[in-house]
Amino acid sequence: MATVKLAAVSKRFDGATLAVDDLDLDVADGEFMVLLGPSGCGKSTVLRLIAGLERPDDGEISIGDRVVNDVDAKERDIAMVFQSYALYPHMSIRRNIGFPLKPRGIARPDRDKEAERVAAQLGLTDVLDRKPGQLSGGQRQRVALARAMVRRPSVFLMDEPLSNLDAKLRIETRADLVGLHEQLDATVVYVTHDQVEALTMADRIAVLDTGRLQQLGTSEEIYDRPANLFVAGFVGTPPMNLWSATVVDDAAVEVAGVRIADASFRGVWSGGSAVVAGIRPEAIELAGDGVPGTVGWVEDLGHEHLIGATTPAGDVACLRWTERGKPPRIGDEVYMRPDPAQLHWFDPATSERIPWP
Ligand code: ATP
Repeated sequence: MATVKLAAVSKRFDGATLAVDDLDLDVADGEFMVLLGPSGCGKSTVLRLIAGLERPDDGEISIGDRVVNDVDAKERDIAMVFQSYALYPHMSIRRNIGFPLKPRGIARPDRDKEAERVAAQLGLTDVLDRKPGQLSGGQRQRVALARAMVRRPSVFLMDEPLSNLDAKLRIETRADLVGLHEQLDATVVYVTHDQVEALTMADRIAVLDTGRLQQLGTSEEIYDRPANLFVAGFVGTPPMNLWSATVVDDAAVEVAGVRIADASFRGVWSGGSAVVAGIRPEAIELAGDGVPGTVGWVEDLGHEHLIGATTPAGDVACLRWTERGKPPRIGDEVYMRPDPAQLHWFDPATSERIPWP
């Protein structure tokens, strides 16, 4: 296995779009690193740079202790798994899995033996004689994975490999991949725009936006201490509420004239400062003395309701209603009380997290 290191890597397309902007990233040996971000943030380009399918304009890329900027893709000892499985339809599953060993001059009986070994690890033994068209989407994705594994690469690069699967299969395959990673101890760089996938699978997550690294950390760090407004608004389902708030004196913060945090802030900010208060939907209670909001939508998820309201400042407020009894209805006025211990603070000018408390 191997490390992957990007040092000050930039990639521009057509001399204009800065797809990757001065990126530093260290993936440890055996780590499951997820690149997470919205469409167009540059995550696939980072993967393609590591794979050698694109060349950086600036910076250095290393795999293990070798700088690979000038090394051909096929010499990089990596394997890629894509969203589309790209299996050969006319070949059996056994031949599909063993195929990458052909250019290495490995004879067919040995290729078949290796394919059978990897197929057993992935629960594909029973389908080895079938053709790809006779498999389910989940099985085909596992064949694609097997074909990557058979090469015993130093690094696996995966680009949204689960996005063609239905919701149930995606959850199952997610768990399979995590188990497999533990078993193989492989270095994996995994691209997704799905934050649940990232939070559940990653050792560490690199959150990207407009080609820039926004935060690098474990799932807990990203969720519990988002580094800026972008990460706060991107991670979480539904994401964190971001309310405009005012420091009224050096001892209290108010939203819409309602005090949501108090004396613990003495001396940290001066009166009149604008701050953004971040509150996760699960950290809001309905209480008579809370911030007012008008209910705009209600979603019944079975085990709970999601309630969306708008504050007088026009900020969105989403909260979870898990109580029994009738939930609020569209048009109702509600009063929302955030748990002061679960508030996050951001500077509206820089959008950075204010490390307090
Ligand atoms: P998605 O999730 O939609 O695949 P992404 O985060 O993987 O998005 P990239 O595919 O890396 O994003 O693209 C980053 C930016 O670079 C986008 O603005 C995209 O339009 C641009 N881009 C990517 N590939 C090329 C290319 N070959 N030529 C020109 N522009 C490109």
